[in-house]
Amino acid sequence: MERIHVTVRARPLSAEDAKTSPWRISGNSIAIPNYSKFEFDRIFGEDCKTFEVYESKTKDIVAAAVRGFNGTVFAYGQTNSGKTHTIRGSATEPGVIPLAVRDMFDIIQEDVDREFLLRMSYMEIYNEDINDLLAPEHRKLQIHESLERGIYVAGLREEIVASPEQVLDLMEFGESHRHIGETNMNLYSSRSHTIFRMIIESRDKHEGEDIANSCDAVRVSVLNLVDLAGSERAAKTGAEGVRLKEGSHINKSLMTLGTVIKKLSEGAESQGGHVPYRDSKLTRILQPALGGNANTAIICNITLAQIHADETKSSLQFASRAL
Ligand code: ADP
Ligand code: MG
Repeated sequence: MERIHVTVRARPLSAEDAKTSPWRISGNSIAIPNYSKFEFDRIFGEDCKTFEVYESKTKDIVAAAVRGFNGTVFAYGQTNSGKTHTIRGSATEPGVIPLAVRDMFDIIQEDVDREFLLRMSYMEIYNEDINDLLAPEHRKLQIHESLERGIYVAGLREEIVASPEQVLDLMEFGESHRHIGETNMNLYSSRSHTIFRMIIESRDKHEGEDIANSCDAVRVSVLNLVDLAGSERAAKTGAEGVRLKEGSHINKSLMTLGTVIKKLSEGAESQGGHVPYRDSKLTRILQPALGGNANTAIICNITLAQIHADETKSSLQFASRAL
């Protein structure tokens, strides 16, 4: 596997926070003098735009996915650090998903030698339950494995899509059916992982044949764009009861993700070593698009505000384990 690409994105600060920020960014390094220092592939400051973050690596992963290589891009970071802004975007700025989808359709349109079938799915993992956001009645789905299909989520809807607009409409549909009031949305999304997935199927073009009825060698790959749960520790938020249970699930799946990524970056898989994909649903679902010759990138979202210095340090620590 190629090395895991790690970028850091700092969200904009208020003027007050900017004045008191202890962090210093210089090129690819970020530090608080005499406290901590990290280096990454790229660090994007608060003035950068999402398309710049997208173009620094995700764009290549999207192009490779169209050519048949699995890929996964994560947004990691504490709640309010800009994960959803980066992955999904907002009214003011398109996120990684719309940018990727547009690129994908552009590449496919220009490819005169192959024909493509694109499908999308959209799911969340909440409390270790897998819920289908495209089919709100599909809850608590199970992960299965077969020789034919590999690892898959049984019953997850895969919608055939023919245009970027259709993909974005389906996403909107998924968001609107989360059964969460507007006021609880931030709390809820800080506790769930959201996996947007495109499945790309293609084969050599032959006149007059339909891709679905052909037994020609078909290439299938997946691209996952993942908005992770907030990385802040349950203990720190004074969580109890249900909140604590959610917190410990989140911690466990993010910890497992960290271990899996560290093992992969050390080359454990190619050396026959154990990679604990099965320790969380998140890593199990993503397994086919993390190991092997899949491409992986982490966008670590941070805030440079003084009061979050410890949390930012632990996010950077997580991200640096992947290098
Ligand atoms: P998270 O998903 O990590 O909890 P959000 O993406 O929801 O965080 O960001 C929290 C708030 O900050 C949102 O209102 C979002 O629009 C805003 N925000 C985050 N990053 C940026 C950015 N780079 N530029 C402008 N606004 C941002
Ligand atoms: Mg969010």
